[in-house]
Parts: sequence; structure tokens; C-alpha cells
Amino acid sequence: MTRSGREPDEHADILAEGLARLRDLPWRRTRDPWAVLVSEVMLQQTQVVRVVPRWERFLERWPNPRACAAASLGDVLGEWHGLGYPRRARDLRLAASACVERHGGLVPDSLDELMALPGVGPYTARAVLAFAFEAHVGVVDTNVARVLARRAGRRLRPKEAQEIADAWVPSGLPWAWNQVVMDLGATRCRATPDCDGCPVDCAWRGAGRPHPDPAVGSAAVSRRQSRFQGSDREMRGRVLAAMTTDDTELAGIEQRLRSEGFDPGRVHAVVESLVADGLIGRDVDGRLRPP
Ligand code: SF4
Repeated sequence: MTRSGREPDEHADILAEGLARLRDLPWRRTRDPWAVLVSEVMLQQTQVVRVVPRWERFLERWPNPRACAAASLGDVLGEWHGLGYPRRARDLRLAASACVERHGGLVPDSLDELMALPGVGPYTARAVLAFAFEAHVGVVDTNVARVLARRAGRRLRPKEAQEIADAWVPSGLPWAWNQVVMDLGATRCRATPDCDGCPVDCAWRGAGRPHPDPAVGSAAVSRRQSRFQGSDREMRGRVLAAMTTDDTELAGIEQRLRSEGFDPGRVHAVVESLVADGLIGRDVDGRLRPP
């Protein structure tokens, strides 16, 4: 019983708390599947504040899969510059082409068809289903996965986490529910959780938050990311930026990175990885060129 005398209702309490503080983000105002897909791909590894203006600009330029499929890879990579993990841009353009070739230019509305699109995994597919088509599925990102494990009071296997997430969605409210639970995980149930007043019926909190934290090592809970500065990720971004936006000769950017202390062997390996990923082209005479 709560102090107001009513039975606790976990769904209602989570929704009431979450909807009241849900941020107004542009992709939350649309149900357009392409716009939702673009937002989900951008948000995978980039912060919300950086994504907002880039998402708007991307959609102004390519408002549907057909427009994106017709763009050159170089243009899409150039538009992606600064968001990181450019493979996402390459795959998004390939997904747009697949939508044109297989689905008449539309983003499909079934889990299997979505997951058959390049770069679309179980998380992104379910996010599009829930946020564009309002389908009854649970969306499990790393934040939701932490909530699920702590609520269960134990580490979860992937299939189990997905089943619990699906079963937890209240009837008729998949959009609101998934937004709210993702937000709760991102803002309250962080690595160091803020449990005061949390509306989740949480087994781990109920047990006094014993060590170990069940979220650590549970399905879909990501580990801390390695340092960006000086990493191969940084080098990949700089080589691509030079080739797609600044038109710097590859030899120039290689020389610059080496003069900054990057190991020549690593620079070479990074360039080769970009070629292997199809993010840099290679002419018949072996010279590298923008895609
Ligand atoms: S009570 Fe604490 S640990 Fe449990 S879900 Fe809420 S914030 Fe997370």
C-alpha cells in the first residue's frame, strides 16, 4: 500500500514519473519510420545534443530512403562528419538502397525485414517498430538492460532480457513505455543509480543493493568505452574527414598524423581498415581516393 492508500501500480507510476520529465526531442514528434531509423542510427554512439541538429540537416537533405539511396557515399560520409563511427553512415545508405529495392522505397514494418537491412540489429529494429509503428515490443538498449537486471536482481541472458522487456510493455502503450524506460535508465538508473523515489519495483534495491551489481555483465549492458584521444577511432575519423570534407591528399594526412606521434604502422593499418570497410576507394593503380 502507498501512503495515499492505493495499491502500487508499477506501470502507472513509471509512466507518470517518466512522461512528466520526458525531454522534447524532435524525433519524438514524428512517427515517420525513415526519420526514426536515422535518429536511432545516429544515437547509437553519439550524444543527443550533438545528434539533434545533424538529424534535422540529414533529413532536410535526404527526407526518405529513395533520396538517400540516390546520394553518393562521399556525400553521406561528408554529412556524417563529426558524428563518429562512419560505418553507420555507409550502412544507413545501404539500408536506404535495400528499402528501395525490396520495399518500394519504404522502411519495412516487420522485425525480420528490418533486421535484414544493413546495419540494423535487434535493438534498432525494435526501436523502429516501437517508435514509428507503435508495435508491442520492448526496446533493450544498454540503459534499459541495466534497469532490467537490477529489477530482476540478477544477471540476465540476452533472450531472457528481451522476453522480460517484451512482457513488461503495458498494453497499447509501446511508444510511451519504451521512451520512458529508456529515459529512466539513462538518467536515473545509471552506473551509480539514483534510487530515491524510483518507481521501479526493484529486487536489487529491495535487497539493499548488495555487491555485485547484477547489471554488471548482464545482457546488453555495455562496458565503459576506451579513451577516444589517440585511438584508432580518432585516426579513422581524421583520415575520413580529410578525404571527404577537406580534400586533403591522403599522403598529407598520413604525414600529419605521423608528425603528431601516431605510429606509422597504425596509420597504415587504419587506412587499410577504411578501405576494407568501403569507406575509402582504391583505384586500379592502387591509389587511394574518396568514395
Ligand atoms: S531502484 Fe535504483 S537500481 Fe532499481 S531500477 Fe530504480 S534506479 Fe535502478
